Amino acid sequence: MPSNVHPKPVFRFAPSPNGLLHLGHALSAMLNHDMAKEAGGRFLLRIEDIDLTRCTPQYEQAIHDDLTWLGLAWEQPVRRQSDHFDAYADALTQLDKMGVVYPAFLTRGEVKAIVAEHEKTGKAWPRDPDGSPLYPETDKLRSTDERQSLIEKGIRHAWRLDMQKALALVNTPLNWQETGDGAHGEIPADPAAWGDVILSRSDAPSSYHLSVVIDDALQGITHVVRGLDLFHATSVHRLLQTLLALPQPLYHHHRLLMDEDGKKLSKSSGSTGLAHLREQGMSAADIRRLVGL
Ligand code: GLU
Repeated sequence: MPSNVHPKPVFRFAPSPNGLLHLGHALSAMLNHDMAKEAGGRFLLRIEDIDLTRCTPQYEQAIHDDLTWLGLAWEQPVRRQSDHFDAYADALTQLDKMGVVYPAFLTRGEVKAIVAEHEKTGKAWPRDPDGSPLYPETDKLRSTDERQSLIEKGIRHAWRLDMQKALALVNTPLNWQETGDGAHGEIPADPAAWGDVILSRSDAPSSYHLSVVIDDALQGITHVVRGLDLFHATSVHRLLQTLLALPQPLYHHHRLLMDEDGKKLSKSSGSTGLAHLREQGMSAADIRRLVGL
């Protein structure tokens, strides 16, 4: 058996402790748990807490409490991303050595101003699949000397992927295998739609995209089961996996639960919060029915 094939399928639920879990998380966690059981596989919990300003120990404890209440069991130890910033920094160094990252100095306000200025002319600024404006070219066009002098002046900066250079380096169409509730089969990846994605922030030494691909690989995840809101992000993950020579998991993006206004549930949707429903006297079986499992 090739060494990158794991004898047992490995699933993971990977919430961020920046709010209380709601019914949408229950669907995701229970589905992961069910699929792992059905496949005779393993189920892991991963705490995605790289955003040190928004993630709290209280929310992390609430995740454990809610999942235990749902009757789920996961392997120990639980991987917490904030314990592994070194691993993400190493990956960034690797990408830097390949020449596909650059320091990005523009603040959110500066990006907004550039986009607004451009859109004054009546032309739309290109946006990513989540609707955010693509990062402007400004920083990519700076000379090495200029970058160096800005860094020496102590100007805060992030690190971004130079999408064009990364795609040129990979030089092959990417795809992934999808078994979820939307499009499925072999899905062509379109990382270019995201522009120069952020890999490391000035206030957090990693980003969602970078840490998720590193951890999925380090934990030997074979099946990524998560909401359809992350379907398009998979394009970026496939590109990073290819650049960093990481294995490719199978993907299953499940349906999202909506509120009465047809909007995706958010961590502030109080009435669908698991802790709230527990206090109302609901059982884990009630939650299973409510999320349609
Ligand atoms: N941490 C992400 C979230 O809470 C999920 C990441 C993933 O499943 O890939 O939305």
